[in-house]
Amino acid sequence: MDWVDKLIDGHDGALTAIIDESGHRIDYRTLRRETEDCDAALIAAGVRAGDRVMLVAENSPLIAPVLLACARLRAWCVPVNARLTAAELDALREHAKPRVTIFTNIVSPDAAAHARRLRAKAGPPVMNRQLTYLSDLSAKPEPVGKTPQTQPMLLIYTSGTTGAPKGVMLSHASVLWNARTAAEMRAMGPGDELLLTIPGTHIMALATGYLAALQSGAAVRLMTRFSIEGALKGLAEGATIFSVVPQVYRLLLDRIEAGTPLVAPRLRQIGCGGAPLDPGLKARVEAAFGLPLHNGYGMTEAGPGIASTTMGPRREDGSVGYGFPGCELRVDNPGEDGVGELQVRGPNVMLGYFRDPVATAQAITEDGFLRTGDLARLDPDGSVHLAGRSKELIIRSGFNVYPAEIETLLLTCPGVLQAAVAGRPAQDNEEVLAFVTTDGSTDAATIKRFLDDRVAAYKRPQIVTIVPAMPLNANGKILKAELIAGLGS
Ligand code: ATP
Ligand code: MG
Repeated sequence: MDWVDKLIDGHDGALTAIIDESGHRIDYRTLRRETEDCDAALIAAGVRAGDRVMLVAENSPLIAPVLLACARLRAWCVPVNARLTAAELDALREHAKPRVTIFTNIVSPDAAAHARRLRAKAGPPVMNRQLTYLSDLSAKPEPVGKTPQTQPMLLIYTSGTTGAPKGVMLSHASVLWNARTAAEMRAMGPGDELLLTIPGTHIMALATGYLAALQSGAAVRLMTRFSIEGALKGLAEGATIFSVVPQVYRLLLDRIEAGTPLVAPRLRQIGCGGAPLDPGLKARVEAAFGLPLHNGYGMTEAGPGIASTTMGPRREDGSVGYGFPGCELRVDNPGEDGVGELQVRGPNVMLGYFRDPVATAQAITEDGFLRTGDLARLDPDGSVHLAGRSKELIIRSGFNVYPAEIETLLLTCPGVLQAAVAGRPAQDNEEVLAFVTTDGSTDAATIKRFLDDRVAAYKRPQIVTIVPAMPLNANGKILKAELIAGLGS
């Protein structure tokens, strides 16, 4: 698709496009050459339009050229986090049936381990580096779309927070719309540096990270793998925009509040998204950074952008802001409290789940709205208030209990650091389970008493469990199913 050439040709070739972990700068001219190298290497490896190209990677300077080269060839890029286990990766390969799998073994020991295990071979070099490839000549290309709206650009798997990851097909148009929208809402341009500490294979990194920066002439400053030291260094060395999952702020703040100075001379915008942001953490971040913390709501199925606090008046009520221009939002079948499933229609919505027409039909309504699986209420002014995932809604004695509401409350209990609330079937009813991490200054009985004074009886957890740490997936989200399993029966 010719937008790729326009994208990398559209900027002064001497501008920086990517800054790698060692501080080395790759300019737009070089990125263009690398994309062409990559293009040639993929063609030499037998890739045609409609083929899948799996990229097993951590964050690396290779992600952008592979992504762009695939887009140019109308092959689908399938980014996969190298930190997945062997069984997880094999399941995704089995599902995606890539013609070629590329491993970024130079920068990622985990990618190298997968490459060894799968006996990948050296392929055509890209960026003067020998990469490792695995080809499957029996893989068949999918039909090629005629327009950017119908041609898949990414096959990207969801985080797997609520079950097995689902393969989301995102069109060129969806990915580009997301890149443009993210760039516009941050007013990105040449001279900006986006510090990317999240896994480079996540949709937030690809569309709203790499492509947002590249389409606006800005630079991406990347880290192979998140570390607190690396993030602090990136901020000190000139990052202007920083956007991560809330969990990353938690880790950074623990360090900063323990005395490590935060030096961020050029930082002008901070944001988070991907998981609930608790108000206490937001206040700590804003105090430490001296900037308002923006919240963005999205999901892989929307490539990912749906709503953000960067538009409209500033809110302090936990809202995730307003829907992006061009996105229609509605709440399906709201209860008395106005809460129901949030649905979205717009250029961002996925083409569907790959090889899963049943799940696709369940996810997209006949009139083209994506069922987000998230519960929300819309204020009359259009701001979105999330109430947790519909799968996690607890129905206790006939009443709705929203885990998000109890979690937010638990986080205001002295000594509680993190909280997760989940339901479990129990004798014709559901019981409410709370899991918390603490600073050691409180106990389960005190936490229960705290809730007794503040919420209706049906919302109170039957069991409060203090855990040493929350089980997290590769994207830093709490795995509630593991917490419940850990309780035993
Ligand atoms: P899976 O679908 O495989 O269970 P997942 O839903 O966690 O995993 P993603 O697509 O990475 O995979 O995450 C999207 C989900 O993350 C949303 O549906 C929502 O539940 C949650 N989320 C995203 N942004 C926010 C936010 N700002 N505040 C609260 N929750 C958010
Ligand atoms: Mg999901």
